[in-house]
Amino acid sequence: MRILLLGSNGQVGWQLRRSLAVLGEVTALHRGSEPLCGDLSRPEALAASIRAVTPDVIVNAAAYTAVDRAESDREAAFAVNAQACDAIATEAARLDAWVVHYSTDYVYDGTGQRPWQESDPTAPINVYGSSKLAGEQALARHSRHVILRTSWVFDTWGQNFLKSILRAAAQRDSLTVVCDQWGAPTRAALIADVTAHLVRQLRPQLAGIYHVAAAGETNWHAYAQFAVAHAGQCGMPLKIQAGNIRPVPSTEYPVAAARPGNSRLDTSKLRRAFGLVLPSWEEGVRCVVGELAAFNLSR
Ligand code: NDP
Repeated sequence: MRILLLGSNGQVGWQLRRSLAVLGEVTALHRGSEPLCGDLSRPEALAASIRAVTPDVIVNAAAYTAVDRAESDREAAFAVNAQACDAIATEAARLDAWVVHYSTDYVYDGTGQRPWQESDPTAPINVYGSSKLAGEQALARHSRHVILRTSWVFDTWGQNFLKSILRAAAQRDSLTVVCDQWGAPTRAALIADVTAHLVRQLRPQLAGIYHVAAAGETNWHAYAQFAVAHAGQCGMPLKIQAGNIRPVPSTEYPVAAARPGNSRLDTSKLRRAFGLVLPSWEEGVRCVVGELAAFNLSR
């Protein structure tokens, strides 16, 4: 199997380099790759790369993920998250290749408390979510697609909330974190492992949209407390204890992009279709905090 991986330097892309390696010949491209172009803001050059590699499967982990910046940088967000998907879908259709693509809980409006199902109506409340939804729609024109909507991604490699909190906890003696947005922190390695399992099983009846997220739910404040408590147990030097992290409502933490309050994702469709078990978010956090502590990598 020939696999073209796009976005190989991101959190999920980095883990995909590992998880896809056992499946076949992987060509991994990132924004700065040469001579093949992996820059999603250059759709013609990207299309030429796809034609040159002639993959059986394209796995697209590249995205414009700066949620707040997207509010004032709409064109760039749509270029990478939507227009590039159009180019990928066109080339995949020519080659009869599969596309595995990632999307987000931010395609929903965040109301209610029930975990979202794939068939629920989408209604993004910020530019990033709108651009990701437009990307899904572009890819869904091509029948051989799997779109994985996920949430709150973290891992040892890359930038994420978990690492920011551990850094802040090592440097500051007071910390406030929002407590009214709910979801499941999902380790990039889990997403990558799930992807490898489904790439092996791809067939037309399984095309479509799936949720992939760790089991359980939390809010950002409880997540921060859990991570800091575990970091303390792992011997990380901290200035603040978990119990002293103050919860605040989103209204007290103004940011450019509105965030959904309910990012819970129902993953039963994926677990049923592919026969998979998704571990708890706490297990993912324990592993990553343990790695960061062992290698002193949180800074
Ligand atoms: P990251 O931000 O860690 O990685 C995204 C990667 O995309 C980066 O390596 C970035 O490159 C690359 N990229 C940005 N612009 C371009 C471009 N023009 N051409 C090529 N590459 C580009 O994101 P994640 O790995 O966390 O996200 C993976 C997927 O999951 C994305 O589709 C994202 O929308 C989705 N997702 C992520 C969530 C999260 O919490 N992070 C939550 C829900 C869904 P560079 O390193 O050069 O900037």
